[in-house]
Amino acid sequence: MTYILAVDIGTTHCRAILYSIQGEVKAVGEVGYETKCEQLGMAEQDPYQVSEAVDSAVAEAVQSSCVPAGSIEAVVFSSVWHSLIGVDERDRAITPLFTWADSRSMAQSDRLAGMVDRYEVRNRTGCPIHPMYFPAKLLWLREEHPNLFSQIAHFVSIKEFVLRRWVGDYAVDVSVASGTGLLNVSTLEWDSRILGLVGIEPSQLSRLVEPTYCFRPIRPDVREKLGLSSRTKVVIGAADGALAHIAAVGTALDGISLSVGTGAAVRRLALAPRTADNGETWCYYLACGRWLHGGLVQDAGIAFSWLTNQLFSHEVHESRQLGLSPYHFVDDVLRSATPGAQGLVFLPFLLGERSPNLRPGLKGALFGITLSATRAEIMRALVEGIAYRLKTVYDCLVQPGERVRIVATGGFLKTPEWVQIVCDLFGKEMYVPLQQEGSAWGAALVAMLSIGIVGSFDEMNKYVTTSALYTPRPEVSLVYRELLPRFAGYYKVLCQSEELERFESSPCQPESPLSACKDW
Ligand code: ADP
Repeated sequence: MTYILAVDIGTTHCRAILYSIQGEVKAVGEVGYETKCEQLGMAEQDPYQVSEAVDSAVAEAVQSSCVPAGSIEAVVFSSVWHSLIGVDERDRAITPLFTWADSRSMAQSDRLAGMVDRYEVRNRTGCPIHPMYFPAKLLWLREEHPNLFSQIAHFVSIKEFVLRRWVGDYAVDVSVASGTGLLNVSTLEWDSRILGLVGIEPSQLSRLVEPTYCFRPIRPDVREKLGLSSRTKVVIGAADGALAHIAAVGTALDGISLSVGTGAAVRRLALAPRTADNGETWCYYLACGRWLHGGLVQDAGIAFSWLTNQLFSHEVHESRQLGLSPYHFVDDVLRSATPGAQGLVFLPFLLGERSPNLRPGLKGALFGITLSATRAEIMRALVEGIAYRLKTVYDCLVQPGERVRIVATGGFLKTPEWVQIVCDLFGKEMYVPLQQEGSAWGAALVAMLSIGIVGSFDEMNKYVTTSALYTPRPEVSLVYRELLPRFAGYYKVLCQSEELERFESSPCQPESPLSACKDW
């Protein structure tokens, strides 16, 4: 038997899954890590804790599988987009790991957007100017921690950090690199103009390789710790969203993957780089000459977990004590409230707006609240609000009347009523993939392509199947169709209040070290 070990470094935990090449899960290892959010906008992790979690998850999967190490043909990586670590000349992390959710570079992002042609930057790099991407983060680091910034020899993502230790090489797959905002998404090279703008050299970034790239063997000391064999190949893989898309819809051009985990994304394959005309979408590289066009809703599972913990802390605690999933009861909670949540409209911009209108400073709001509101209705209003936001992103990727096939993935599948609400609000059928760990299975497929088990990119479609189908409930869809203009109206109100707040708090911008960029 031949096995593939897929290592998925996610936002909150690392999962290592050992698959047979037929897709059967043989073993799973999972280890979580903490995110520090002590100040407004902070979302950082300890790179060493994450790296240790990766090793532990891999060792757990290998050891619990009882599979001979020699039959594990390849280890392949899926990892989050937009993670940033600064390392010194001796490869030691000298900054924390800044996650995608760290938004402390908001001011730098705003200034950058005012000084360059932001549409040109988005078209060149596939990434809008936003605190999530490296240009704003690097400027923040340079301004706030100049001494530290000057000591950084390499800027890497968490996957590069782990792989450097495993194989002694700094390389980054073009998929992960395309999510930094520093890559020219058409030439697939580091963009010298952007690098010049933020003051770093190409030598501070890793060598670019295709997601199918295979490294030399793992270093003996690491191999021993992980329980892997010297014949196991290491395939670099791609970013989690890209791999989740492959696992959900394969290489079909009419496939839409709707992934709702900690954050949420709507994605579609493209044969060339593209961005939308009617909203701020992104374009990242997938693999083998294909791109992904999509948009992001940051407040998905993160908002769901936050509100559940706020309103149902007793039930969450009790579930944990019973060894159950902490949110298993929310499905019943959602069902107990009526569609439209008795007039409550929750616009969840708890982390600002990413797509489609790129307003990182926007804050969330709950409209229509009265003394009769129940916590179940507030919970339902949040989930409906997330569904509304997903729909605004979907509308940037799909033309009205166009026939597409939507496949839903991510942690929200554990709450079927949430999936049903999204399905009702979209008024469209939604499939669920057979392989629920999408990023990991997508990574396994890329490894199979790399080592020749799968013959071509399109042949991966043979391994992509769905297991369930949600269909919209007509009476609920009708409620949502009537509600959509109210959502849009309240959204406008929020934007106006944000503009007012911004105007009152900073009527004039301070002189910036970025004035040099005016020639852009
Ligand atoms: P990640 O984006 O970190 O890979 P997942 O795809 O596993 O995460 O999704 C995690 C999210 O799923 C959590 O933030 C949580 O809010 C959401 N979720 C919804 N329903 C449940 C449930 N019943 N149990 C656990 N998580 C759930």
